Amino acid sequence: MVKKTPKRVKHVPQRTCVGCRKVIAKRALVRIVRTPEGLRIDPTGKAAGRGAYLHAQRSCWERGLKGALAHALKIDLTDQDRETLRAFMAGLPDEPALSEEMQMPEARTAGLEREEVDQPQ
Ligand SMILES: [Zn+2]
Repeated sequence: MVKKTPKRVKHVPQRTCVGCRKVIAKRALVRIVRTPEGLRIDPTGKAAGRGAYLHAQRSCWERGLKGALAHALKIDLTDQDRETLRAFMAGLPDEPALSEEMQMPEARTAGLEREEVDQPQ
């Protein structure tokens, strides 16, 4: 038997949520980036500039707005920044959303369907 190298890479980039200080996978967090025009939400996570991360969860944003975010970004939040953050926060759930990775039943269903079709007679 040939040992297959597991494709699961252990090196997942991790970041700290500045709201609750939990360290989790970067892709599960929302990035806020500091630009010359003020703070912006960075859905791609690739915008240039100093960034900070928050859970897509309102309680973390509230803590961020209270000063954690300003501290992490080494700035003072302007009224416009607060507006930007509040607008985004308004669309967030109170509770953390379930991780997308944890619910992927589609692949399994597809496999079962194929098995039925391939059944030899
Ligand atoms: Zn958090």
